[in-house]
Amino acid sequence: MRISSLAVGDELLDGRAVDTHGPWLSERIVEHGCIHVEHRVLPDELDAIAGAIRGLAGDCDLLLVTGGLGPTSDDLTREALALACGTELVEDPGARRRLEERYSARGRVPGPGNLRQAMRPADAACLENQQGTAPGILASLGATRVVLLPGPPHEMQPMYREHVLPMLDGEPRESSSVQSFGIAESDAAERLGELADRDRIPLVCFKVSDSVVRADVHGPGAATVSEAIRECWHPFAFGGGEDTLASVTLELLRSRGATVVVAESCTGGLLGGGLTSVPGSSSVFLGGFLTYSNHLKHQLLGIPEEVIERHGAVSRDVALMMAMESARRLGATFGLSTTGIAGPDGGSEEKPCGTVWIGLCDASGTQPRMSARRFRFPGSRDQVRDRTMKAALQLLRLHLLGEEATLLWEQS
Ligand code: ATP
Ligand code: MG
Repeated sequence: MRISSLAVGDELLDGRAVDTHGPWLSERIVEHGCIHVEHRVLPDELDAIAGAIRGLAGDCDLLLVTGGLGPTSDDLTREALALACGTELVEDPGARRRLEERYSARGRVPGPGNLRQAMRPADAACLENQQGTAPGILASLGATRVVLLPGPPHEMQPMYREHVLPMLDGEPRESSSVQSFGIAESDAAERLGELADRDRIPLVCFKVSDSVVRADVHGPGAATVSEAIRECWHPFAFGGGEDTLASVTLELLRSRGATVVVAESCTGGLLGGGLTSVPGSSSVFLGGFLTYSNHLKHQLLGIPEEVIERHGAVSRDVALMMAMESARRLGATFGLSTTGIAGPDGGSEEKPCGTVWIGLCDASGTQPRMSARRFRFPGSRDQVRDRTMKAALQLLRLHLLGEEATLLWEQS
């Protein structure tokens, strides 16, 4: 089945918003064994949208159009579809009733702009929208079905699953993925050997995004090949699909009945933020200290001023004490600390920008065990901070698994 798509919205073409529907639809369409023929982004202009609907519909079985179904005067997609179909807009009684019910449930009455959302081209049908007021629309243009979906992702995506997915006739493609952190891309590729051959079935596709090396495997036998890749990348491979270093590390902690706290300097809350972004993290991640200044490292964590003066805030001693004191003061099984020079200024010959110490305290035994590792992360301030956060989580994960490994960018 051949599918094209069209994202409508001025905001997608003037820098206010990034079109995420294109890649999202590509992934869904391809994983379902269909072909994503073309994706276009257009402004809120009646003739341009109508012309594109006519043009794209000529070369596909299904055309998906997102955005421009709202109540405001710049929402023109349903008018454009009527123009492309050469029909009038008529009110859909069912859609009007649902709209009025939705409004009255909130003690309101829909205005004229809102009522436009119950209009559809004469021969078309409305598609129910559980998340918002604008229904979708299904129409036919020759042999091509055209589906209009609302622009907000939290409305478009469920509607795609509910209304579009049942229309697809492809064979769902087997696919699987593996993610790793702490291994160089070239090393990751070399370790795969012939698994990475371009003419293999299933095909392995590499991607490095935000320092995570990822292999996506598509085709028959994808799960078996992913398992083989996981072994090749051991112990750096941390999960697949939607896993993150935070989610898998939290799961490991949970399975051991352990808790973790953080003491953050250069990451300034990024590590705690990464952990709290995982739903259900509260039973494992207790909280922590955000001690960016030396003064707070002393005041909140009790790190002696002489230690900071003698070794510097970016040092093994300070990282160790931050990890230990956070675990001790907050009564957690593990304490994880970060202290470094994120740059672009503040580096020296001895401690250039990107120098980071990550400390780990394991208080699960009778005596706390501590370690600190030094890194030299390349990249911008944001990259250094993001890499620090990920390295800290990977170090904790490896520790929990009892794995020894030197991570990429680690200094002996
Ligand atoms: P609304 O009732 O919200 O106006 P709508 O169907 O008219 O719904 P749009 O006005 O086109 O939708 O888009 C609403 C919001 O949805 C946009 O401001 C944008 O944040 C988001 N959005 C729309 N299209 C896209 C897209 N292609 N990619 C990412 N976000 C999008
Ligand atoms: Mg709108």
